[in-house]
Amino acid sequence: MLTYRSVEGGWHAASNCARGSMFGAGGESVCTPFSTGGAGLGWLAALLAVCALAAVAIAWLLGQRRRLHARLHDPREQASRALAFHAYHDTLTGLPNRAYVMRELEQALAAPETASLAVMFIDLDGFKSINDTLGHEAGDVFLRAVATSLRSSVRARDIVSRFGGDEFVVVVQTYGGMENLVRVCRKVLDLVSKPVSVSGQLVAVSPSIGVAVAPQDGQLAATLIRNADAAMYAVKETGKADFRFYEEGMLEIARERLALTVELREALQAGELTVEYQPKRNLRDGTLAGVEALARWHHPTRGDVPPSVFVAIAERSGLIHALGEYVLRAVLNQVQAWDASGTAVDYVAINLSMHELSRPAFVDTLHRAVRSYGVDPTRIRFELTESSAMRQPEETMRQLVKLRSHGFDLLIDDFGAGYWNLSHLRELPVGTIKIDQSFVRGSAMNLADREITEAIVGLAKKLNMRTIAEGVETEAQADWLRELGCDIGQGYFFARPMTADAFSRYLAPTPVYAG
Ligand code: C2E
Ligand code: MG
Ligand code: MG
Repeated sequence: MLTYRSVEGGWHAASNCARGSMFGAGGESVCTPFSTGGAGLGWLAALLAVCALAAVAIAWLLGQRRRLHARLHDPREQASRALAFHAYHDTLTGLPNRAYVMRELEQALAAPETASLAVMFIDLDGFKSINDTLGHEAGDVFLRAVATSLRSSVRARDIVSRFGGDEFVVVVQTYGGMENLVRVCRKVLDLVSKPVSVSGQLVAVSPSIGVAVAPQDGQLAATLIRNADAAMYAVKETGKADFRFYEEGMLEIARERLALTVELREALQAGELTVEYQPKRNLRDGTLAGVEALARWHHPTRGDVPPSVFVAIAERSGLIHALGEYVLRAVLNQVQAWDASGTAVDYVAINLSMHELSRPAFVDTLHRAVRSYGVDPTRIRFELTESSAMRQPEETMRQLVKLRSHGFDLLIDDFGAGYWNLSHLRELPVGTIKIDQSFVRGSAMNLADREITEAIVGLAKKLNMRTIAEGVETEAQADWLRELGCDIGQGYFFARPMTADAFSRYLAPTPVYAG
């Protein structure tokens, strides 16, 4: 009884004492009964007070835990947490999203302690072809792998985010000097370019990286991102798979490109593009071998936009499929018209972009279109640029073999200007090599260009392939090429590209060149 009372008393006393000590009032008077019980009782009271305090703390913690547990399992709480996560994260990769980056960037830019801050805008070169050839699930696997590579390229405090599609943004904070930033860019370039196994196949895509640095390239999040994006486009323009820092003027170029993209789409819909034809002549006897179709865009206010500009825009924006179809239909209509008028054109060569080949249904659609016009596939040839034909050798090979099996002839355009791979050259189902015009142009002045041209003609003969020389501008060049054993010549010496009507008139008299 006594003990019980004393414990009970101690409990109350301890809690009062604790309160007393906590709030600094009434401590003396409440603790007095214990201090009067001698030294032993004093210790006991202190111990009991500590135990009581611990019990209160545990009870409070347990209460907190219960409340937290209840909150965690409350469906409304769960839903609002999920919403908050989705608002700031990308569901595919789990990375923060655009909204998150904008918020964090604004905060970091406003903070006086932010020493240095850079935004890297990253776009994957040719990612679309993974989706197109291996399917969207494979594309998703690849994007997750890129997210992992990016995360491992930078420090934990840097932000790695996905803006959507194949666009990622990395915010690098307090990176020190520019040389460190360059090092980070190289690391990203290196790690993201590494092949990834997707659907049992090794796939590699390089990144194009644009960098904008605060405060000189912008003091607002939106400005920094826009300028990093413009720098990224400049990389795409100059060969991809690299990084560049923002420079003045890049934004204007990016805006101009966007405007041209919109106008090209409209021009294709309105049927404002035309096709010109340039003859190819057999060098041995000067007879017409065939023609090459070249797309033309006469812009109502800008004047003529060169194909090198609008084909690149079409490739980047995905309009290349529409452009390819447009040119094909124009050519098929023309072949029908020439046949009807008795104009003898054996074949028309159409330039084919690698991007067009990336669509799995491309070959079948094309074959159906050609058949629907009643044109024999052997009268349509496709010119592929050498470098693009080699970029994804296996997939390219499959598509080319399929094209060939339908009867379409293939040739490699601009041979020697891109990336040589002689083993692929032997395996490609290609019957003709078109020597890049830079060698023909340089042949008069430059021994190396002459020797390369000779080597290409010799190589083609060994591989049982025919050769076409493009950019033939003088009679001397035509004579030299014929002596080398080059089969066909094309260039201003014979004729410039011309409209279909002009071509019909051009064919009426006897051939211009008889070698
Ligand atoms: P390409 O297929 O190598 O075409 C040859 C280019 O050289 C053409 O330029 C032609 O006009 C030009 N050319 C022909 N003979 C001579 C010559 O003697 N001297 C000089 N200096 N140039 C000559 P163009 O029409 O500006 O086309 C440029 C490139 O644009 C083409 O190069 C081709 O890769 C691409 N292209 C043109 N039309 C199409 C198209 O319909 N689809 C695709 N995907 N690409 C196209
Ligand atoms: Mg060509
Ligand atoms: Mg060419």
